[in-house]
Amino acid sequence: MIKKIKGIVVKEIAYKDTSKIIEVLTNDGLYSIVAKGSKRVSSPLFLGTTFLSYSEFCIYEREKISTLKSVDLINGYKNTLKDIVKLGASSYLVNLCMQVYKQNSSNEIYDLLLVGISKIDSGINPLGIVNILEIKLLKYLGLKLHLDKCVICSGDDIKSLSLDYSGYLCKNCSKVSTDRKILKLIKLYDTVDLNKLNSFNVSLDILLNLDRFIDEYYAKYTGLYLDSKKFFKSMLG
Ligand SMILES: [Zn+2]
Repeated sequence: MIKKIKGIVVKEIAYKDTSKIIEVLTNDGLYSIVAKGSKRVSSPLFLGTTFLSYSEFCIYEREKISTLKSVDLINGYKNTLKDIVKLGASSYLVNLCMQVYKQNSSNEIYDLLLVGISKIDSGINPLGIVNILEIKLLKYLGLKLHLDKCVICSGDDIKSLSLDYSGYLCKNCSKVSTDRKILKLIKLYDTVDLNKLNSFNVSLDILLNLDRFIDEYYAKYTGLYLDSKKFFKSMLG
């Protein structure tokens, strides 16, 4: 059956001399597709089948591996491909989203990845976008942070962000305090509509501070192996 699908190339696997198998994440699942001859620059299947391309694919659909008939590139994220920081951030997001997707194949993960990559390409702070996705993805792992009231007593007078309790603690329940800007920023990450985010003005100091919390949270609870984040952060300098 011939089918048209739109999606992001999340993996390229070499296949024979000139071909490759690509994995494409779409809003109705993950497809493995053989793209014959697509490693040749002269191939009509070359453009649109490289890692991170957002394309429309016309495929002969088969149960395990489909075959690519034609492809139209929708967005190749040119700014990202020539910027090592942006590329590191988007590569990490692909890696993270696919690891989460293996545990919970929600279509919303595809939507988050698509908008995240677009925002990074359009020049919005890559670390900010990465952190927003990290916070939003926790829901699909069953690890969503509690950021409405105090985790222990449901009090409103919030004083700190707790790694051990996975969320806010109030002044009666917490001995330590967290910078107010961080308390506000993590809530913003959790609730902001990424589609509507067009600028990002947070000091690097606050950004890195919250990023450290997120890394610790991921290390403590998710069990995910995320070496590509270390690579991305080494690019930040
Ligand atoms: Zn409390």
